[in-house]
Amino acid sequence: MNTQQFPWQEQLWSRLQLQWAGDRLPHALLVTGSTGVGKQALAENLAAQLLCQAPDNAGACGKCAACKLLEAGSHPDLRHVTRVEDSRQIRIDSVRALTEFMGMKSQYGGYRIGLIYPADTMNANAANSLLKTLEEPPAGAVLILVTDRPSAIPATVRSRCQQAVVPAPTRDQALTWLRSQAPDLAERAAALLPMAGGAPLRALSYAQQDVDQRLSQLAGLLDNLATGRATLPEATGDWKKDDLALLLDLLPFLVQQVIRRSTGLPVEGIAPSCGDGLDPRALHEYLAYMYNYRALAERPINAELAIEDLFIRWQRVGRRAA
Ligand SMILES: [Zn+2]
Repeated sequence: MNTQQFPWQEQLWSRLQLQWAGDRLPHALLVTGSTGVGKQALAENLAAQLLCQAPDNAGACGKCAACKLLEAGSHPDLRHVTRVEDSRQIRIDSVRALTEFMGMKSQYGGYRIGLIYPADTMNANAANSLLKTLEEPPAGAVLILVTDRPSAIPATVRSRCQQAVVPAPTRDQALTWLRSQAPDLAERAAALLPMAGGAPLRALSYAQQDVDQRLSQLAGLLDNLATGRATLPEATGDWKKDDLALLLDLLPFLVQQVIRRSTGLPVEGIAPSCGDGLDPRALHEYLAYMYNYRALAERPINAELAIEDLFIRWQRVGRRAA
């Protein structure tokens, strides 16, 4: 029943095993790393191992009563805390309930585990309410925080956790994993690896969502917008407000490739050609502008206006060509 273990996590897993064997696991672990390298799986595997009644260094046994409860999602000594429904944030009520839970006695006489993800979405009050548990951890309590943006977590919380950085795999490891997991999609996912920052789970999720097709559509659209062959309403029509996050993945990647091509560097993965002949300085400025947006997009902003703004600015980049 083990959640999958990834070959590129071996070293980190071994380190945690040494700590576990020596009874030196921290009371709070901050699992970090890029999106799509399997942080959540690592956290779940560790939680399962700690709760299992017959674990070994590879993880939980998958057979004991505790493992069966975990598999059914009803182990009384494990609590997941994440965002509720439409909320962008983990709120104080959820964290308070967790700290109360962590202070209670373990039902199975072992660890009591709280898993928080994405931990960077705890609002300030929520993060504050976690401090007491971090400073005076109840016996047997283990908090596992998972995030791909550790810098967005207050230093007061971060400094009280031990970091476990999940590395990205090598390209070969990523390709091997993709071929074993999804033979049908492996080639398409492999072509999307560079856009996924080398993270195979993310690349696979892109392939499952046909992101490669959206990437070619977007490239065509950018060309047409820059040369005035497409209008703004035509551009925004294809992109609904829920697509802002995806657009903020695709657009910077495409613009980076335009810049690479213009400087004679090879393009990475599938990168349909677009934007040739545009002013390099305008392209760099546009890229910086988008990175700003990525930071902003974590907060409540009007996604429709943001999408429109991104395309308007691209039109301006087009006008500065030649
Ligand atoms: Zn077990």
